[in-house]
Amino acid sequence: NEGGFVLVDQHAAQERINYEKFQRIFNEEIKTTMPLIPLVITLSPSDYMLLTKDKINALEKIGLLLEEFGNNSYKVIQIPSWLTEYNEKEYIDDLINQIIHKDYVDIAFLRKHTIATMSCKASLKAHDYLNLSEMQFLLDNLYNCENPSCCPHGRPTIISFSKYQLEKLFKRTGV
Ligand code: ZN
Ligand code: ZN
Repeated sequence: NEGGFVLVDQHAAQERINYEKFQRIFNEEIKTTMPLIPLVITLSPSDYMLLTKDKINALEKIGLLLEEFGNNSYKVIQIPSWLTEYNEKEYIDDLINQIIHKDYVDIAFLRKHTIATMSCKASLKAHDYLNLSEMQFLLDNLYNCENPSCCPHGRPTIISFSKYQLEKLFKRTGV
């Protein structure tokens, strides 16, 4: 545009759009389902101790229900429905690993982490090709976001170069 030019990271942009959309859905209700294949999470004895009842209850609030399975393991008996399209095991392992290593139960963190992961998985990749109208659509949606400047992980969606910065790069200042 007149002021210079902007670069948009299409993955980060779509992640932001999805994040704000999923936040609204998540606030309404969490749909749950049974895992497609039996899932058992086995922990080391020390990790097992760290996964307290409170933390297990917190996981239930985001749709993940665990049942004691003996030998430091848990059977996953219910998962959030959106997860079935992705790598369930990888997501659950990562999530449990993160809450185990926190010394308090943080539902806000769990919710944010879950919604950010959902958004990431549902977004196009950096190398996916978009035509002009798809790009325009993405930008329109991004600018409608409450917080368009970064993705839910805090990375920037847009980098802009002012006319002045460009001129400086081409060493055109003052001449
Ligand atoms: Zn991502
Ligand atoms: Zn991100």
